[in-house]
Amino acid sequence: MRVTQFFMPTLREAPADAEVISHILMIRAGMIKKSAAGIYTYLPMGLRVIRKVENIIRQCMNETGAIELLMPSVQPAELWRESGRWQHYGKELLRMKDRHNRDFCFGPTHEEVITEIIRTYVSSYKQLPVNLYQIQTKFRDEVRPRFGLMRGREFIMKDAYSFDIDEKGAQESYEKMRRAYCRIFESCELSYKMVDADSGAIGGSFSHEFMVVAQTGEDAIISCGSCNYTANMEKAASLKPDNPHTGTEEEPKERHTPNMHTVSEVAKFLNVPETTVIKTIIVQADDTVVAILVRGDHEANLIKLKNYLGVAGVEMATPDNICKVTGAPVGFAGPVGLSIPIYADNAVSDIVSAVTGGNKKDTHITGVKPGRDFAATVYGDFRNAVIGDICPSCGGKYTVARGIEVGHIFKLGTKYSVSMQAKYLDAGGKQQQIIMGCYGIGVGRVSAAAIEQSHDEAGIIWPVPIAPFEVAVVPLNTNEPVVVNLAEIIYTELKNAGADVIIDDRNERAGVKLADADLIGYPLRVTIGKRTLSEGLIEVTIRKTRETTAVKRENIIAYVKNTLISLGKS
Ligand code: ATP
Ligand code: MG
Repeated sequence: MRVTQFFMPTLREAPADAEVISHILMIRAGMIKKSAAGIYTYLPMGLRVIRKVENIIRQCMNETGAIELLMPSVQPAELWRESGRWQHYGKELLRMKDRHNRDFCFGPTHEEVITEIIRTYVSSYKQLPVNLYQIQTKFRDEVRPRFGLMRGREFIMKDAYSFDIDEKGAQESYEKMRRAYCRIFESCELSYKMVDADSGAIGGSFSHEFMVVAQTGEDAIISCGSCNYTANMEKAASLKPDNPHTGTEEEPKERHTPNMHTVSEVAKFLNVPETTVIKTIIVQADDTVVAILVRGDHEANLIKLKNYLGVAGVEMATPDNICKVTGAPVGFAGPVGLSIPIYADNAVSDIVSAVTGGNKKDTHITGVKPGRDFAATVYGDFRNAVIGDICPSCGGKYTVARGIEVGHIFKLGTKYSVSMQAKYLDAGGKQQQIIMGCYGIGVGRVSAAAIEQSHDEAGIIWPVPIAPFEVAVVPLNTNEPVVVNLAEIIYTELKNAGADVIIDDRNERAGVKLADADLIGYPLRVTIGKRTLSEGLIEVTIRKTRETTAVKRENIIAYVKNTLISLGKS
């Protein structure tokens, strides 16, 4: 490829709305262009990265025996009504109507469509197992699209779905995908962690997230400092803390706390530590309104409660409902005298003298003792883990790191095969439910995560396997025919030798070309300039280390080829 024939609008300035480095650099390197919030064009340079990531994914998926298909992006509402998700999916689902006033959505995921395909064509155990995947554009109307390709509204995902006759088969399919995902992220040269994304509420590990460790990650990864336990913050088990509150018992007393809504406001006003405040969160669990209690310095975890209760959804109750059950406006709920089920976190049981909401406007109660002044329906693990929590596997202490979720594998079981009637006849002629798994990778997010992990002040440092071009040939002085001719010859020779090469044949200043090469992040740069004229030497620079080697003309092709291999070209 020639830069003069390519389209690479690089920018010197970062866009104002770009907060993270991958977003800034992808815009500056002319890889993506924003069209609307969370909606981007993949410009030619960016598209080359996307395609390379896709091809790595495709190859690894094919190797496991998964079969590629392509489903429609626009999906009929009927299927979503069958699965029950038309009602439950909420605002992330982009819904639309056709000219006949029929409901459709733009697919955020494809369980419904694939289940409908399978139930149409599969009727016997002989046709199973099967694993089908696609690489396709999804749409999710995210509340906060941001960080460029990392959290878009329109984004490319590889999604795979496995169908098995029994648990054992489903487990094997899952294992195959788990191994394939490891190979994919290793091939992209990402440093990642596979984390347990299920607290074990269903008994066992049925979901894993693949996290790229990066400061800018939106997810928190819990790891044990002493063993290899790792889990998503939302899923990591949190035991009772080993530093129970040691206070003295008091009698409950109402206190006037005008406009004090938050834990820190109340703690400051009453001059008590936040660890002695009990937060009461009123939530809606399917049709029931219940309360979660957590210590003031802890965060309630609605997913853990949802798993514990085995309900379809848990969300914050509306202000109206909060007012109905507590008799107070939002911010003053408390467990004393509350007549709804109370799910209290283990850490709450140890507080000897607590501050709670008073179920009355501008009122809190001090001196509250769990067990004496209120009875929890149950004590359990209903909060997010924090640094220093005790590891359930070994008793060590948790540490926390930030991560970007690039992939997610999930055992679905019979959720969709039951609601959508996907069955098969077993060897005995008996009808059985098909067991499913689903497996996703965000293609754009992988590309962005690679940049988060690998960049410097000058720009991107692409790993060779996903670089838009592996080598850039840069003639510095285009007024010098010797330089231009040699650059052209080397470009052609490299191309013939199988390198993915671009030549910067623009009539531009050397500084501009070198800055662009660094910004775009080609792993290798072959520079033809003064030194070539005076000494016959060609400079080869490794972007990552900035190490430059002067190579003789006759050795240049072999040198570049070998260096690319040493940098990870397969
Ligand atoms: P998140 O918690 O980040 O919203 P998710 O759990 O909704 O992710 P999945 O439904 O498991 O994501 O989707 C599979 C993969 O698709 C994710 O691991 C991620 O790599 C990618 N992905 C999900 N949402 C987005 C998005 N808004 N923009 C880009 N990639 C995304
Ligand atoms: Mg999401």
